[in-house]
Amino acid sequence: MAVTKKKSVKKNNTIKLKFDTSWLYAPAPESKSAATIKPQYDLFINGEWQKPSGGKYFDTINPANEEKLSEVADANEADVNKAVTAARNAYEKVWKKMPAKERAKYIFRIARMVQERARELAIIESLDGGKPIRESRDFDVPTAANHFFYYAGWADKLEYAFPNRTAASVGVAGQIIPWNFPLLMAAWKIAPALATGNTVVLKPAETTPLTALKLAEIIQESGLPEGVVNIVTGAGATGAAIVNHPDINKIAFTGSTEVGKIIQRSIAGTNKKVTLELGGKAANIIFEDAPLDQAVEGVINGIYFNQGHVCCAGSRLYVQESVSKQVIRKLKDRIESLIVGDPLDKNTDIGAINSKQQLETIRKYVKIGKEEGAEMYESSCSLPGRGFWCRPTLFTNVAQSARIAQEEIFGPVLAILTFRTDDEVIEKANNSPYGLSAGVWTDKGSKIFNMTKRMRAGVIWANTFNKFDPTSPFGGYKESGFGREGGLHGLLPYVKLIN
Ligand code: ADP
Repeated sequence: MAVTKKKSVKKNNTIKLKFDTSWLYAPAPESKSAATIKPQYDLFINGEWQKPSGGKYFDTINPANEEKLSEVADANEADVNKAVTAARNAYEKVWKKMPAKERAKYIFRIARMVQERARELAIIESLDGGKPIRESRDFDVPTAANHFFYYAGWADKLEYAFPNRTAASVGVAGQIIPWNFPLLMAAWKIAPALATGNTVVLKPAETTPLTALKLAEIIQESGLPEGVVNIVTGAGATGAAIVNHPDINKIAFTGSTEVGKIIQRSIAGTNKKVTLELGGKAANIIFEDAPLDQAVEGVINGIYFNQGHVCCAGSRLYVQESVSKQVIRKLKDRIESLIVGDPLDKNTDIGAINSKQQLETIRKYVKIGKEEGAEMYESSCSLPGRGFWCRPTLFTNVAQSARIAQEEIFGPVLAILTFRTDDEVIEKANNSPYGLSAGVWTDKGSKIFNMTKRMRAGVIWANTFNKFDPTSPFGGYKESGFGREGGLHGLLPYVKLIN
């Protein structure tokens, strides 16, 4: 889109940039016809679709237009119990005893079927979650398939993953996932659990259950023995029933720090294994010697990718003072050219906010930011009438102690701070209750190593941001949780090393 700057208007600590849009891309919507969504989904327990025992269903809507897509079963304690019993039987009678290379064949088959149905999965992911089709098509779905391929490869090679040790499976894994990467999170959780010989009860988030249910269809078609993977839908109460079930051996949770703390309290005193992947407030640091245009693109990708619904989003930007004016100027220009709108349009950069509740949280933080005295800039783009939308937004003049610099917003809102020296920026970057990810932009390799050694974050990207790979471990420090998922490290939470 070509844009010419016109004027900026300042009102209530908000600067709105006004642009002339001289031309726009023609709409390029992906067709919905490749996706089949049933009007109602039951629970996937013991290899078959079972009605919820309470008879209750809840709606899942398209956040881009608030229309109902389907209704899904609300699993209660009795349903969770059925799922755990199915998983236990499958574990004891079939999966634990199956030769590892046979287990691998099933996981490879699931990986290939995810690839075969990639288009359908991408469309449903964008309809149910609001993320741009470009992301679900080019990132979420292929990366989900890659996780299944990667862990399928490990299934019969565990003796090389843990040399001179014997790795035994743990039993039944209870897995609870959030709404920001619904299919990918399901793959992150299910693939290593199956490869190491465990069975699974998985609960997707209540606002984005559809791709996990599609995955259940794939799993059913793959011929995976019944009960090895069970998928139950519901909200917090269903998640709590999984966490508290006495026959679960391991909990894997990705979600908010608040719920992570509840889970930790509930399992205290039990011998359940647990991994928690929680919130984040990543510091993205630009030094004056960095290639600024690339850095600006990286910052844009870091915070506006997936509407900022990313726990490792680069939501705190630290820019060295000597280049801060230049970087802020470039960022303002760049957010103006981001295309916000229909998630199914292939040109869309920023889709819909996942839910009304999340939009309210983002708005609350934008208000707090202004009240704290920071200066807000937002793109002047128009927003669709229905659905949940947020313009790409940034704040300058942000204090280190400001809530928008300390708390997770989980939306397309960037807090920009400045620094002069390396020591100062290390201190500021580490001054956070979180420690999930971070980024460093500089021309000097030695500086990258010096900085990353001193930063307290589980993943640190250098001269890039938000890059994921199944072979690479991911996880945090401090209130961002513990345990690693992905890579060789991601096998460990699913095994007992018995000698
Ligand atoms: P977010 O803020 O990302 O929505 P939540 O932590 O609220 O994260 O939700 C992540 C997942 O945890 C969802 O699947 C949700 O249903 C589930 N959940 C919410 N409350 C609980 C709870 N008390 N125990 C277990 N799971 C829960």
